[in-house]
Amino acid sequence: MKKTVAFSKNATNVFFHILTHCNLKCIHCYINKKQHGKNTLPIETINAWLEVFASKNKEPNVIFLGGEPTLHPDLPGAVNKAKSLGYSSITIDTNGYLFHNILAKVSPDVIDYFSFSLDGATQKTNDMIRGKGSFDACIQGIKNAVLKGFSTSLIYTVSTKNIHELDKIELLLKDLKIDRFFIQVIGIRGKSTESRQGKLQVPQKDWLRIVPDAAQKIARLGIIVTYPKVFLSLEEPFECAGLVADNYFIFPNGRVYRCPLCEDYPLHSLVFKDNVLAKTPRINENDFFALNIPEGCVMNKLFQPGNLSYNPKGIPKYQIACCMLKEEIRKTQ
Ligand code: SF4
Ligand code: SF4
Repeated sequence: MKKTVAFSKNATNVFFHILTHCNLKCIHCYINKKQHGKNTLPIETINAWLEVFASKNKEPNVIFLGGEPTLHPDLPGAVNKAKSLGYSSITIDTNGYLFHNILAKVSPDVIDYFSFSLDGATQKTNDMIRGKGSFDACIQGIKNAVLKGFSTSLIYTVSTKNIHELDKIELLLKDLKIDRFFIQVIGIRGKSTESRQGKLQVPQKDWLRIVPDAAQKIARLGIIVTYPKVFLSLEEPFECAGLVADNYFIFPNGRVYRCPLCEDYPLHSLVFKDNVLAKTPRINENDFFALNIPEGCVMNKLFQPGNLSYNPKGIPKYQIACCMLKEEIRKTQ
C-alpha cells in the first residue's frame, strides 16, 4: 500500500546535530563547518535544548545526528534525558562505526531505531562515496545492532553515483533484517556544492524510472519503504513544511533552521542564546516560505535550480515538492 505522508501537524520533530565532527569524509556530506561550527555540545547544553522542545504542546520526536553522533561520549546521557522528558520516539543516525560501545550503553526499550547510512549495494560503490572500509563497518554495525535486539533502518542517498545499485540492495536488506528503508534525495549542500564531485543530482526521468519501482519491490519483502516525492505535476497541491509542520534542524553553534535546504546559509529563523530559543532578525527563511511560485519549493529554485525544467514558453514542466514530503509503502497482507 502506497500513501503520501502529509506533514504531521501534531508532532514536533527535532533533528539534533550534537556535534559536526565525523570519522568519514563522504563526497556528499551536507555538514558545512563554516555554517554549522566545529564544536561538540556539552551534555548540559544538549539537555537544556531538549527541554525546550519537550515543553512544546505537541508530541516530540528526536533524531540524534552529527557529524557522527556516536563519537559524542555523552550520547547515552542525551538519550536518557530525551526519554525522561517524554520524547515519543528516539532515533540515532549513524554511519555504522558505533563508537564508544554505544550498543552496550543504550537499550532497545528506549531507542526506536538505529538508522544506518549506506550508499551502495556493493562495497565498491559505497566506499567510493563514503570512504574505504565504510561498507564493511556499516554492515558489521547493523549485524551487531540486530543481535542486541535493536530495530534498524537504512538510509540510501540516491545520486548519479549509486542510482544504478538501488534495485540490487533488496537482498542485503533482507539478509540484514532491516525494518525500514529510507531513500533520500541528494541535496546540493555542504560538499555536494563542490564542482569536482560532478553532477550528483539525478534527473527527473531517471528518478521516476527507477526509484518508485525499486521501492515497491523492496516493500514486498515486508520492509517499510519511504522516499521523497520530489516531483509534483503542476496540478498537484503544493505545501511548504516551513508553514505547516513543526520541524527543527539544530546545529551545535546554536543555529536552528525550519528548512533543511537553507542550512548552507545564515538564514536560520531561530537561534539558541543562553539556552533560550530566540527569533532571528529578518531577512530569514520564514520570509520565503509563503512565496507562491509555479515551480513549487522556493528554496529549491534559489539554491538548486538545476533540477527544474521549462517548456519553450517559460512555464515549468513540473513542481518540486517540499523535501519533507514523502511516499511510504507498506506491504499489504
Ligand atoms: S557519515 Fe554523515 S557526517 Fe560523516 S562524512 Fe558522511 S555524510 Fe558527513
Ligand atoms: S524544502 Fe521548500 S517547501 Fe520544504 S520547508 Fe523548505 S522551502 Fe518549504
